[in-house]
Amino acid sequence: MKFLDFIFGKKQSPENKFCDFHVHTTFSDGLLTPEQVVTIAEERGLGAIGIVDHDAVGGIEPARIKGKEIGVEVLPAVELSCIVGDCDIHIIGYYIDYKNKKLINIISGIQEKRLDRAKKMVIKLAEQGAEVELKRVLELAGNGAVGRPHIAQALLEEGHISCYDEAFWKYIGYHCPAYVPKEKLSPKEAINLIRDFHGIPILAHPLSYNNRGVINYIIDEGIAGLEVWRLDHNDNDLKYLTSLVTNNHLLSTGGTDCHGGRKGKILIGEIKIPYQYVAALKHAR
Ligand SMILES: [Zn+2]
Ligand SMILES: [Zn+2]
Repeated sequence: MKFLDFIFGKKQSPENKFCDFHVHTTFSDGLLTPEQVVTIAEERGLGAIGIVDHDAVGGIEPARIKGKEIGVEVLPAVELSCIVGDCDIHIIGYYIDYKNKKLINIISGIQEKRLDRAKKMVIKLAEQGAEVELKRVLELAGNGAVGRPHIAQALLEEGHISCYDEAFWKYIGYHCPAYVPKEKLSPKEAINLIRDFHGIPILAHPLSYNNRGVINYIIDEGIAGLEVWRLDHNDNDLKYLTSLVTNNHLLSTGGTDCHGGRKGKILIGEIKIPYQYVAALKHAR
């Protein structure tokens, strides 16, 4: 098989390998298993893929096993939520020591808080006349970290809303009646946690916070890099982020943030980042 791949040029050398740094699996709020993610990455010509779940690292090992089998390099990562004012900030830790027992314990503590939060939101929804069963919400979360997407799905199933997004502007979006804030880390705590376990902290979707001051603040707090390439960034965004990276000597990553088609299409590989950026990340370890 390997020989045939070589003959047909399928085997990628580091120079012509591409990566999508940011994909979710069923271990958080994605719809695809780690194995499916890696398989699709291979089908779409990627040589490397970042397995990034919210507050969960369980998807990394199955992805790695599949990746070894079919020749896709898996970048282990976790996406942590933190808070600045009322802004929900996501920081990804690449190459975090995901097998470390202490880290796994800390992450399961974070997941317990998520479960508490889901329970509170279900109670608030009932008060609003939009009853969903916690059991169903947890079923939808599967082995992943339960969150608002699963509650939205349950609301849709129960017919309380007519489309997925309605859940967020009617019930569980920020400032909505059934919204419960997460108990979150500060960016400094998230960055330190990632560094303590030998990871590289990267600010996810920096422009989604609509707050450039926050980006500078996180840079000052010691972030190692920014997610520069995203499907929702235009040329001006790229210029702005690239100048931040250059001026502050940061790393650049990018990806589709694919949730397995939860919002429509399976985006894996719609952004292909040259492998040199993976190499730079590894070098920074
Ligand atoms: Zn995010
Ligand atoms: Zn994400």
